[in-house]
Amino acid sequence: MMRHRLNPAPPPELLQKPVVGVLLPLPLAGAYDYKLPPGVNAARGALVAAPLGNREVLGAVWGAAEGTVGDNRLKVAEPLEGAPALPPKLCDFIDWVADYTLNPPGAILAMALRSRGAFEPEARRIAYVRGSVTPPRMSAGRARALEIAADGLARSVTGLAEDANVSSAVVRGLIQAGALIPTDLPEFAPFPQADADFAAPELNGDQARAATSLRDAVKAGKFSATLLDGVTGSGKTEVYFEAVAEALKNGRQVMILLPEIALTVQFLERFAARFGVRPCEWHSDLSQKERRRTYRAVMKGEARVVVGARSSLFLPFPELGLVIVDEEHEQAFKQQDGAIYHARDMAVVRARIEDCPVILASATPSLESFVNAQSGRYTHLTLASRHGIAELPQVKLIDLRHERDAPDAEKKAQWLSPPLRAALEKVLAANEQAMLFLNRRGYAPLTLCEACGHKFTCPHCSAWLVEHKYKKRLACHQCGYELPMPTQCPQCNETGTLIPCGPGVERVAEEFAAFFPTARYAIASSDTMHGPAETQAAIRAMAKREIDVLIGTQIVAKGHHFPQLTLVGVVDADLGGSDGDLRARERTFQLLHQVSGRAGRAEKPGLVLLQTRNPEDAVMQALAKGDRDGFYEQERQFREASQSPPFGRLAALVISGYDGDAVRTIAKALGKAAPNARDIKVWGPTPAFYALLRGQTRERLLVQAARGVDVQAYLKAWLGGIKIPAAVRVTVDVDPVSFF
Ligand code: ADP
Ligand code: ZN
Repeated sequence: MMRHRLNPAPPPELLQKPVVGVLLPLPLAGAYDYKLPPGVNAARGALVAAPLGNREVLGAVWGAAEGTVGDNRLKVAEPLEGAPALPPKLCDFIDWVADYTLNPPGAILAMALRSRGAFEPEARRIAYVRGSVTPPRMSAGRARALEIAADGLARSVTGLAEDANVSSAVVRGLIQAGALIPTDLPEFAPFPQADADFAAPELNGDQARAATSLRDAVKAGKFSATLLDGVTGSGKTEVYFEAVAEALKNGRQVMILLPEIALTVQFLERFAARFGVRPCEWHSDLSQKERRRTYRAVMKGEARVVVGARSSLFLPFPELGLVIVDEEHEQAFKQQDGAIYHARDMAVVRARIEDCPVILASATPSLESFVNAQSGRYTHLTLASRHGIAELPQVKLIDLRHERDAPDAEKKAQWLSPPLRAALEKVLAANEQAMLFLNRRGYAPLTLCEACGHKFTCPHCSAWLVEHKYKKRLACHQCGYELPMPTQCPQCNETGTLIPCGPGVERVAEEFAAFFPTARYAIASSDTMHGPAETQAAIRAMAKREIDVLIGTQIVAKGHHFPQLTLVGVVDADLGGSDGDLRARERTFQLLHQVSGRAGRAEKPGLVLLQTRNPEDAVMQALAKGDRDGFYEQERQFREASQSPPFGRLAALVISGYDGDAVRTIAKALGKAAPNARDIKVWGPTPAFYALLRGQTRERLLVQAARGVDVQAYLKAWLGGIKIPAAVRVTVDVDPVSFF
């Protein structure tokens, strides 16, 4: 897949010239030439303030000057105070990502410079230490404060007041008396350091073997890639923590990437239980100040372990010695807007450039990683059983074509079949917990007028409006458009004719409550309607056993550990399998396998019931038989036969804009202009799955190439020949994972 050469770094002597190329964090074609101030040298990565038009932009010295602009017309770029610099290997990485994803390098640099103010000299803050003066008047509070301060640590007024449990007036009195003297400290307190030996677990046989292999990879201190492939609950996290410990002992920094969704307090606390302190975090929820503190600490090498979302890839680690991607199969690693890239793939690239090991962990690897492991390109470590006495759950299919309530039954269910209800009853009677899973938010995915057939759709997207009964609104899940739940059909003006079609989690919950009126339940849905706080509350309630049943979307599928959870019911296992895109089957398998993995994680055995209308389907059969590798093998053969990734290469072009005609014209012109080339096919243009999205018309072209083809070169030649008007956008997605 990644057969790209590194941009050769310019020889250092070129950078000793007073004129250099400076890359600005803007979507420009390349670096611009600038003069350095007289007598100043700056190496690749050195950060400078560069005048651009009438403003000043932060940039990085990138390489030799192009020399096309006369010396006397060049502006001067000033190195920043304290000479902060991006590590040269990060610069190489930025060039590589830009080349591979066909983004301007400045757009990638922008992601590496995302912390505003991180390069400004650090402010100082005043703190106080014990002086030699004894205050003339002593009180119990004063004595306590001085006793605390006697340890020699510098504290702020409020810090000391808190530690000594006195009012800040007491502390200020001591300052006035000269018993405490001011000193100044760096703006940010240093991060506490993780302790490799804080609480090392006793590993079982398989775990110990895997840990040894990973430790050896870290010790070797060169590039290697390992797929840590273990069933849910086998202890993958415990095992890769051993590699983290080894890296810490070797004085190297560690980057752990998690899909956004798994970046939870649980993980941070788990890390703290193993290493004594929480790791540094990097994600979009950090405050400006936390960002600055973390970025700086990474750059200075003070932050040893950073756990973060995909944007952590671009942090300036000077001593990176280990990269870990947990849940490596997750689609959340693919950044879909702005610069489009796959963080898992780029993590492997970063490790190669840093010449350090990378660990990809999953119970359901991506087919790409699985094939790489099979072919020996990656080391394949497997953990085949759950840790301790926990067993993998039993998976059974419920054939919905045969399992209906009898027509004369007093009470009929639409979504919860009799066998699923019987299983729920048993679990509730035994005082255990259950989870009902449906990967659909809201109450009903479609609202229809019974009288005229009118369907409620979004005015800005080609998508149905989803009913959210709880909030009494219809909402578009693509763009967020909402309206109050109508009572009248806008087309035929009838009232009382609007009917919900199909279930969302809210509707499943409604039916559950009708059948189990005394059971305690909550809904967890990654939703704008149920905010993240509500979801967290539902999950906490489940963990504390305040509820019996958790009803949720994919937010409940991953990572959670509920020891009393013995039943997982999948309301519609067929959902997603019929999307028809290349990865639909793989994704369905991964998701259902993950959600199944929530059952029976402690002493009590788990049961998973999958409601399906296609029990013969390969995905359902593989899940029921627990034959993961059989499924992967089948999927591998299918991909190989169709020359699909990883046996062939794909790239997508999405042409979008508010002017539908202009979009279609450009899409057609692009289709016609596609150069003929051996081993390359171009499909389209066709309207995208969401042919209208947030008001923009969208057309797609798909490039399919044999594995050895330089797709980037092909795309460059192609796109270079077409003039795109400003009102139309052409987005390139190399290695697309979704096809909307
Ligand atoms: P995975 O990441 O493979 O799903 P985890 O690392 O989360 O598995 O482990 C599952 C559970 O088993 C966790 O609660 C973990 O703390 C526990 N566990 C795994 N291995 C050990 C071990 N060697 N000693 C103690 N507890 C372990
Ligand atoms: Zn919409």
